[in-house]
Amino acid sequence: MILTKQQVLNTNKAIVTEKVLTVEDLHVSFTTFGGEVQALRGVTFDLYKGETLAIVGESGCGKSVTANTIMGLIPQPPGKIKNGKVLFKEKNLVKMSKSRLRKVQGVDISMIFQDPMTALNPTLQIGEQLTEGLRTHQKLSKAAAYTKAIEMLNMVGIPNPKERMKQYPHQFSGGMRQRIVIAIALICEPELLIADEPTTALDVTIQAQILELFIEIQKKMGVSIILITHDLGVVAKIADRIAVMYAGKIIETGDKREIFYTPQHPYTKGLLNSVPRLDLLEEELQPIEGTPPDLFSPPKGCPFTDRCPFAMEVCGEVYPESTERSKTHVVDCWLQDERSKLFS
Ligand code: SF4
Repeated sequence: MILTKQQVLNTNKAIVTEKVLTVEDLHVSFTTFGGEVQALRGVTFDLYKGETLAIVGESGCGKSVTANTIMGLIPQPPGKIKNGKVLFKEKNLVKMSKSRLRKVQGVDISMIFQDPMTALNPTLQIGEQLTEGLRTHQKLSKAAAYTKAIEMLNMVGIPNPKERMKQYPHQFSGGMRQRIVIAIALICEPELLIADEPTTALDVTIQAQILELFIEIQKKMGVSIILITHDLGVVAKIADRIAVMYAGKIIETGDKREIFYTPQHPYTKGLLNSVPRLDLLEEELQPIEGTPPDLFSPPKGCPFTDRCPFAMEVCGEVYPESTERSKTHVVDCWLQDERSKLFS
């Protein structure tokens, strides 16, 4: 359920404008038996210090491929980074050697996946899993790592942390396991945390607690977060800015108010109209008709053309240039571009 306008405004915070990450014109493809899938087709965005950027869109739009490319988790082959940069601290992660990338992962950049059980090693006590990064990457002594691990468990809300350090993942509930995964991801104090559908596998009450935890952690640690999700309720609660993806492209970016209350791209409007909102009646919900285009041979023009009620002739022929509606609000749609009239 998406929050009301006032609730969304109440959760807005000032963003520091120091860039942590820049993704520039990223193109990623996968070779399959059916041909080449063009999963990312020129993804570009910045992430600023201490902000939460939510990347949203239907499944298959490229959200997780974007996250995995930043983390260096694209298997090559079958994947191929065909073009583009991922700049973190002025270093291009795409060109980094595997050994250097491993040092960055887990220390400067961490990732949390959907299912906490697969992220934890069932055969190791959680104390060992928590201290591993500190011992390997930060070269802390056993005693110092142990103390920090207990502090971290405390911070993520695990009661009796000393006793629980000796327990195994199966001795914790799903929500507690996700708290431990978050503790492991943050223990080396990364600058960037990527959370891929971090609450999808949890029930609604636990989801709310984990989201509160994200908000608290960001206040305390100032970490920048990329949140990958299809859940606009989650986005309304914790995001500062939103990037909407469709068919391997970011088609609209804006701060939370701009995307929720003055969306410009017909796809963004469709997404918002298709999920329950406190200020919408059930009968006002409208699913987006049709399906996304085939990324084996993506259209040369706007990929939303076949589903868009406002499509013009030019839309199917030429991809629209980005139009700046404000310093933070950018949209790729011919409706925003005066030149579309020249084509009609
Ligand atoms: Fe619709 Fe054309 Fe805008 Fe694409 S560019 S969203 S088809 S109006």
